[in-house]
Amino acid sequence: MRRYRIALIPGDGIGKEVVPAGRQVLEALAGAENGIGFDFESFDWGGDYYRAHGAMMPEEGLEALRSQDAILFGSAGDPGIPDHITLWGLRLKICQGLDQYANVRPTRILPGIDAPLKRCRTEDLDWVIVRENTEGEYSGAGGRVHQGFPIEAAMDVSLMTRAGVERIQRYAFRLAASRPRKQLTVVTKSNAQRHAMVMWDEVAAGVARDFPEVTWDKELVDAMTARMVNRPASLDTIVATNLQADVLSDLAAALAGSLGIAPTGNINPERVFPSMFEPIHGSAFDIMGRGVANPIGTFWSAAMMLDHLGEAEAARRVMEAVEAATADPKLRTRDLSGAATTAEVTEAVCAHIAAAARRPLATA
Ligand code: ATP
Repeated sequence: MRRYRIALIPGDGIGKEVVPAGRQVLEALAGAENGIGFDFESFDWGGDYYRAHGAMMPEEGLEALRSQDAILFGSAGDPGIPDHITLWGLRLKICQGLDQYANVRPTRILPGIDAPLKRCRTEDLDWVIVRENTEGEYSGAGGRVHQGFPIEAAMDVSLMTRAGVERIQRYAFRLAASRPRKQLTVVTKSNAQRHAMVMWDEVAAGVARDFPEVTWDKELVDAMTARMVNRPASLDTIVATNLQADVLSDLAAALAGSLGIAPTGNINPERVFPSMFEPIHGSAFDIMGRGVANPIGTFWSAAMMLDHLGEAEAARRVMEAVEAATADPKLRTRDLSGAATTAEVTEAVCAHIAAAARRPLATA
């Protein structure tokens, strides 16, 4: 029996609904005699913790996470707390503190999903966006002086290091090389941003020499938005800076059908620290507590987590169950124009896993 220690951080809003649903799916997998087990530890960090303690998570929180094998995260965001506090106090603190420098976001149109691009066939859209996750526009460098006075000045510095750029480019080229099309698009804005983005381009060209099997091209981020809509099949693996990839991946999620479906992994590729997996949607306070949040993004994130842990067969089983759910019109939540509840989708996915598990999983 292979056992994994999983930290659960539901966070805020619908995170508190979809993370328990994700746990249920992992428990169904473990309960189906699949040769794997989980030891869960839950952390109540987020907006409520902030109101009680004045911080989104405790000072020694990162220490508690280091001993885990992986983290399943919900979302951070609270209408009563400024967004920069919720983001920097929890999600970014964990990503930067555990050096999860590669944020990986697969996008595909799952069976049964009605995606908005009318001319796009399902097989035309199969992307992985790699987002630099620890520096760039989110470096935290900058400052604000003379607050409230007419001479007030504020500055956010996009800080890129050669080491930081090289490791994310290398990760993206390696990932592209592992995918069937072996194709990478490097997103840039080096026409306007003439320092760090020029270094970004130069580093990409240097790393490319180590991956002769990968076909790669460069695209300005503005042109990239049009290309994603007009020529989706021309893209496969994509690498972009922290902010650019954040924007592009919300577009990607919308093009694939819904924000409620898309997953992401915050990866520490060297595996010195645990990696963290989460749906890309936010806390969605407008639907919180009503039991209607789509849990598919969390299930897909759990599948990515299993893959990262070396449990490829278990990941495949979860995705099979997820695809069976999306293909069933009765199991669409309201973001997909349906009326199914979080619980109904979760139970259906768990039941599919239980029914499919007849043989033990292959070892990774
Ligand atoms: P945050 O400020 O934490 O980023 P948000 O509410 O501004 O959160 P999102 O949660 O990312 O933004 O999503 C925007 C809207 O999309 C939500 O208000 C909600 O109506 C819908 N939505 C997002 N995720 C889901 C989901 N899993 N299931 C159903 N609807 C969703």
